[in-house]
Amino acid sequence: MSEKIFIAVAWPYADGPLHLGHIAGAYLPSDIFARYHRIRGNEVLMVSGSDQHGTPITIKAEQEGKKPGEIAALYHQQFLESWQRLGISFDLFTTTGTANHAQVSQDIFLTLLNKGYIYKSTVSQPYCPHCLRFLPDRYIEGTCPYCGSPGARGDQCDDCGKPINPAELLDPHCRLCAATPQFKDSEHFFLKLSAFRDRLLAWVKQQSHWRQNALNFTTRYLEEGLKDRAITRDIDWGIPVPVDGFDSKRIYVWFEAVIGYLSAAKEWAKSSGDEERWRSFWQEGVKGYYFIGKDNIAFHTIIWPAMLMGYGGLALPYDVPANEFLTIEGKKLSTSRNWAVWLPDYLSRYEPDPLRYLLSINMPETGDTDFSWREFFRRNNDELVATYGNLAHRVLTFVYRRFNGCVPQPGEFDSHSQALIAQAEDTLESMDRLLYRCHFKEAIRSAMSLAQQTNRYLDEKSPWRIIEQDRQASATALYVAISVLSCLKTALYPFLPFSSQKLHQLLGFDGNVEDDGWQLHFPPPGQKLPSPTPLFSKLDEKLVEEETGRLGQVRY
Ligand SMILES: [Zn+2]
Ligand SMILES: [Zn+2]
Repeated sequence: MSEKIFIAVAWPYADGPLHLGHIAGAYLPSDIFARYHRIRGNEVLMVSGSDQHGTPITIKAEQEGKKPGEIAALYHQQFLESWQRLGISFDLFTTTGTANHAQVSQDIFLTLLNKGYIYKSTVSQPYCPHCLRFLPDRYIEGTCPYCGSPGARGDQCDDCGKPINPAELLDPHCRLCAATPQFKDSEHFFLKLSAFRDRLLAWVKQQSHWRQNALNFTTRYLEEGLKDRAITRDIDWGIPVPVDGFDSKRIYVWFEAVIGYLSAAKEWAKSSGDEERWRSFWQEGVKGYYFIGKDNIAFHTIIWPAMLMGYGGLALPYDVPANEFLTIEGKKLSTSRNWAVWLPDYLSRYEPDPLRYLLSINMPETGDTDFSWREFFRRNNDELVATYGNLAHRVLTFVYRRFNGCVPQPGEFDSHSQALIAQAEDTLESMDRLLYRCHFKEAIRSAMSLAQQTNRYLDEKSPWRIIEQDRQASATALYVAISVLSCLKTALYPFLPFSSQKLHQLLGFDGNVEDDGWQLHFPPPGQKLPSPTPLFSKLDEKLVEEETGRLGQVRY
């Protein structure tokens, strides 16, 4: 029976372009997972959207003399184009700027307020006497009290990663005018996280299938005790607080952005014509997977589950596959220093599958991994082209020329041929288990090892050499190779959707590779083959120097 799988993916801030860290962290793994479940016949709902609120966007807008909404719309459009070109197959990629999202967020706010999980309290907030405004987290900067870094913000120090209260900053100043802020009282709403600590701890103890990073971080955080957190801010960009007297304040972005997973499911249901359809992905027992980077764990294993527990009646996350970080050429990725590879730049110069391949086979699943242009070049030429692409191309070209452009009729399989077919079937089975548990790196490695085995098989059988003496043996070996290629187009589909679809057609099949299901579909002997073209292109080594030279340069 088919299973329902809800796939929730971190919401990118619409304040700048996507880079490879985002892709390796959340978007590629979630897409692999969604494609795997779809080809397996499961019902998938995969949602996310651009996070339009929050101070990163208002700061960017002030720097560029634009309205926050303009900045958000610009990057939202760019995100949509990037997903399409990279093949990230969202069922819905919306934004937090919709009326639907505001309404769902306010409903959760009011329900938690009525149940006593949200309360009002007065806090002392930094206030700029020159700008005449309160300074939310990112509008105040100073020296980190923990590590001494001069660029710490009011919410966190990026150098040591510690969360900070604005009052703790040494030498604090307003980011807009550099004046020293004063502290003034302001009334805000707080989420009573402390009320959920014991329930969360009991719940997390049952999640033995989570990755170690999420499990350890969450347990440690909960054992240290939970502090209530303010969920409103003195800003004018964001979702209005649905309570009288709070006109000059907004619901803070970290509270409403996670609600996007629910509001997006509702929006998707509405546009499907069945407004209640979202419920089938949110009821108890449906597995919801939250794909995020490791810097986002607390929001998805503590805060969002606490909000859901307080609200009641909705499924808690089943798994939170948080990836570690991607470094670039051995250094920590930094957008401000432009030590990053930007996705739109990549897509303007290269095909999507080589990047998907490299980031899959080198995915930061259990520890940080490094991206380098040298490795990109090497893995494209030595693995994608040499191991997989050439295998398909030499088999299909030879068959096309020597067997009238049709899948050859095989004779009886010898033990070597039988063993290779058995290995292909085993590969699909073991990949099925790995993909189900979000072990992507291991899964793609087993597919590539099947391609290597097939190359060895062909080296031994040499169908090109024996065709004159023993046409039947040649046809059998080629048929076995074609069958393994048919297995590979399925096995690699979640990772390399573009080349898998192409191979599906080159093998003479119609329609979409996804509709074939997770099985070894033997191409019927006699099936007509189109004229073959290569799956991948070799790259020129010059790119390594060119691309490396772009890193860290000022962008205009
Ligand atoms: Zn620090
Ligand atoms: Zn100021």
